[in-house]
Amino acid sequence: MITIIGAGRVGSAAAFNILRYRISDVVLIDIYENIAKGEALDMMQAAPAIEFDGKIKGTSDYSEMENSELVIITAGEARKLGMSRIDLMNKNARIVKSIVREVVKYAPECKIMMVTNPVDIMTYIAYKESGFERNRVFGMGNILDTLRFRSYIASELNVSREDVRALVIGEHGDSMVPLVEYASVSGIPVTHLLSKEQIKKIIDLTVSSGSDVIKLKGATIYAPAAVIAIMADAVLRGRNRVMGVSTYLQGEYGLSDIAIGVPVVLGRNGVERILELDLQPETRKRLEKAVMVVKEAISKLEGD
Ligand code: NAD
Repeated sequence: MITIIGAGRVGSAAAFNILRYRISDVVLIDIYENIAKGEALDMMQAAPAIEFDGKIKGTSDYSEMENSELVIITAGEARKLGMSRIDLMNKNARIVKSIVREVVKYAPECKIMMVTNPVDIMTYIAYKESGFERNRVFGMGNILDTLRFRSYIASELNVSREDVRALVIGEHGDSMVPLVEYASVSGIPVTHLLSKEQIKKIIDLTVSSGSDVIKLKGATIYAPAAVIAIMADAVLRGRNRVMGVSTYLQGEYGLSDIAIGVPVVLGRNGVERILELDLQPETRKRLEKAVMVVKEAISKLEGD
């Protein structure tokens, strides 16, 4: 069973994907009980049309997450006008810590997938607060950046998005690191198909893609919800998918005491293993910058 905490725009859309792709039953928890119950009822009424048999329950009772294999945290705020990134971080940090304490109490064997932003920092907090082994706490961010990167490569070349394989690592934010040297179209390196100018344009579009949506409609919903379902499927069905996931590092890439996006194998136990790649000097520099950005933000975290 999967529990999603936060029945807002992203949490409820993710719950619906998990049901319609028949990945698992879902418990949807929100502090506003009516929202959680209403979303669950609405989804259940769609079941005959989409033909899924999975169960969905909406509640504000944390004990309902008992026996969950995976708990997905989408509770928290998005940045409002006049709110700094650091203000948002401290507000969401308090929410995430209180939720993680409930997770430890009711689902001590689960894996935690963090979605709340800033996701690398919330993953770090969830890892520290839970006391879980590091493979059981990971954040969704880079795989979404990767899908956006793949889409823009495909558009530029006018080829199927399905044939584009790529990876983005680092911070899920402005200092993300698209791995151009590992991007390919059906095995053909993109550097053979695209000019330096085209690649720069694609990277710029990828970096701004989340805020481009937020500027227009206030939030990103469908893309993150789709990606959450892909990750949930990898864990619940033990599929060992390879993707960029925020994970706590202990020396990999020469980094430690930080959660940041790196390529991992995601399966039944969460992060089954971390894949360490050789990075070109320019990419390495970008990754180091991303690490600095995240570490600096962590240093501004307030206490309880
Ligand atoms: P939203 O405001 O629509 O929903 C958030 C929900 O969390 C609300 O329903 C609220 O009642 C609930 N909530 C708040 N505190 C809670 C608590 N203590 N327990 C249970 N529920 C609680 O927001 P959204 O658009 O769904 O976004 C949610 C979060 O996900 C934001 O932080 C956003 O920035 C983040 N996000 C991350 C990614 C990513 O790629 N990692 C993508 C999109 C959104």
